[in-house]
Parts: sequence; structure tokens; C-alpha cells
Amino acid sequence: MKPSSKHLLLYLIIVFIFLGCSSVKTVPFENYVDTKTKKTHAQVIKTYNLENKGVYVSNEFDCARLNGVKQLNDSTAVLDIYPENSPINNSAYFAFKAWSNTPKDFYFEFKYPIGYKHRYVPKVKRNNVWKAVDSSQIFRNDSIVTVKLSLDKEPIVVAAQELQSSKDVKKWYTNLIKGKEDYVRLESFGSTTLGRNLPVLDIYRGNPEGKELIVLLTRQHPPEVTGFFAFQEFLKTVLGDSALSEEFLNTYRVLAFPIMNPDGVDLGHWRHNANGVDTNRDWSKYNQPEIKQAVKYITEKVKQDKNKIVLGLDFHSTWHDVFYTNKIRENTTFPNFIDDWFTALEKEIPGYKVNEASGNSTKPVSKGWFLYGHNAVGITYEIGDKTPKDKIKRMGRVSATEMMKILIKR
Ligand SMILES: [Zn+2]
Repeated sequence: MKPSSKHLLLYLIIVFIFLGCSSVKTVPFENYVDTKTKKTHAQVIKTYNLENKGVYVSNEFDCARLNGVKQLNDSTAVLDIYPENSPINNSAYFAFKAWSNTPKDFYFEFKYPIGYKHRYVPKVKRNNVWKAVDSSQIFRNDSIVTVKLSLDKEPIVVAAQELQSSKDVKKWYTNLIKGKEDYVRLESFGSTTLGRNLPVLDIYRGNPEGKELIVLLTRQHPPEVTGFFAFQEFLKTVLGDSALSEEFLNTYRVLAFPIMNPDGVDLGHWRHNANGVDTNRDWSKYNQPEIKQAVKYITEKVKQDKNKIVLGLDFHSTWHDVFYTNKIRENTTFPNFIDDWFTALEKEIPGYKVNEASGNSTKPVSKGWFLYGHNAVGITYEIGDKTPKDKIKRMGRVSATEMMKILIKR
């Protein structure tokens, strides 16, 4: 064999070993969901100038969702709001800017495709402050919802939930981890279809080797901002200047993923990523870049540092606060965690009653991946669309504190 072909052979062997090491195990589920890339419809990005009225409506910003505007009469316009593709959950998300040359009240009627209906109470951002529109300014005629807004030349943002774009999220975690560089490492686990960065915080004190691992996920579903607020408070508490946090991070390692679907978030999607797919149905075969790279990143850390995943929390929003848990507890890494955690939450939050919905995941969602793929406790941590911020913050704070206490005592 000539030296050059010897080198080639050696090179090929190294490539194969490398590919072998970095390949990740798929996890079978009872009901496989097709998560191959699907067609999406892009919204036309523009500012609409309502004829002769001096009123403007725009979707020229991150997280906007507005597919068309039709003037109905002197004081009313109909807003077309479409999802990125269908079928899709009824997360009828909207976000637009509006302003007027002269101060005036104006009515906006929401129009969704057949089969979808208005879900979110509109929130308005004025002078940098978000406020839900008062119910006296919201009118319902059967399923048609109209909102009355006071406009002037200063644009207001009107949205289904407070906006938290990928840039806002980056600003938040950059600020959060300042001065904590000795135990929080900001890394990237890859990039999205549209080239957006996928950030992850790798959190532990001392040596990562042999530590048990907790995984925190959020923003798989773009409009689920209330779940993200709980994630923020949860993570802030885990990173807090407390003896509890210090002891916890001496023992455990946390991988926190603050924005799993930045393309979907910035494109103002109702649920899917840029490839038109629900990433929280992709935790079986990893067809989508966000999940594929997250799983690869987690798997490599676990292998490299001999970690074991004990707990995975995935923060979402739905109609009301609820914890979706797995029924299978025996023989998992931590059979008593859920009972102990919920008991502690009820004890620490006066008048609070845990709402648990228990079932074993049959579709490829993250909580099933933690269970079937790692024998770990997996929980979908859901905050209600309308849960007030002070309650969300308390939940985030107390649930993080009690988690740390339980894990330390283990
Ligand atoms: Zn969700």
C-alpha cells in the first residue's frame, strides 16, 4: 500500500469512528408522527396604509403575524391572520403595529381561516409597557372578535402575548449570566434552518464528571410565552446567590435551552419551526435541526462526562396551569420526585393546588423522550395563557427552590 492510500484508509477509519460516536439513538414511540419538512406560507412583510384614513398597520418587525388588512368602513379594518401551515393547533397567534396621523379610536376585527378561532386576549405595548386590553374594549359577535384601540402617531404593538423575540431572549440570558462565568457556560448547540443560533447554558460548579443532569427546555412553541416566563424565573432561581444553589450546582449539572425554536418565534409562527413542523413531535427520529442538534449535544455531554439524566422539564403554555407527567415512575432514575415536588409546592404556596394530568406519552414529545430514552423523569410544565405574571414568577421561583431541595436530599 502506498503511503497516500494508507493515509486515506486511516482518515476513513477516523471518520467512521467519529460518525459512530456522534450518532444518537432514536427513541421508539407508540404513535410515530411524521416530522419531515412541510410547506409553509410566508407572510408578506409590509406596512398597510388605510386609504385616506391616515391609519397604518404593519408587520415589519420580529414576531409579527399579520397576513392582510381590509378596510371595512371609516373606523374599522379586518385583519387576516393565518397560521404558517395546517393542520395546526388552535394557537391563533397575532402581532402587529398600528398608528395614526391624528389621535383616533379605531376598531380591528380578527379574521382567521375556517376551523380556527380567536384565543388570546390582545396585549398592547405602549411606551415600552405591556398591558392586556380591557375587556370593555373587546367585542364579540358570535365567534368574531373586534378590539377597539386608541391610536396616535406613536406606533403601538398589539399581540396575542408579550413579544419575546430571539434577540430579546439573548439580551435576557446574556444579562442573567453576567458575573456567573465560573459556573455558567454559554454555548451553541447548532443553528436553525434559517441560520439562527441555538443557545444553551451549561451550568455546574467544579468538575462536570459523574454529575447527574437536569435538562430544561422552552419555546418549542412560539406563542407560549407564559411558560417562558416561568422558565426565566426558574433558571434565575437555580443561578441565584444562595447557599442552596451553590450546594445544588456542586452536585448537579443543568443544561438549559432558552429558545428551542427561534425561527418559529421570530417568524411569528403559531406552533411550528421554519420547516413547518411541530418540534415537540420530533423526539423520536429527530428529522428537524433543532431537535437533532439538541439531542446530539445532550448525548455527547452525557457520554463525555459520564452524566446521567435524572430530570427533564419542558416549559410550555396552554389554557390553564397543568403539569403533564408520565405514569411510569417505578424503576425510573427518581421514582418519588413528582410526588415529593408537588407536595412541596402545595405546602410552600398558600392555597395552591397542583393540577396534574398523568399519562404515558404515545407521541414523540420531550417528556416521553426523557422517560423512554433515558429512564428519567420527564414533565411538561404548562402555564396558563392568562396566568398573571406575579403568580407565574412565584411558581417558577418556588418550583426551582423545591426541586433543588429535593435533589440535594436524595
Ligand atoms: Zn406547547
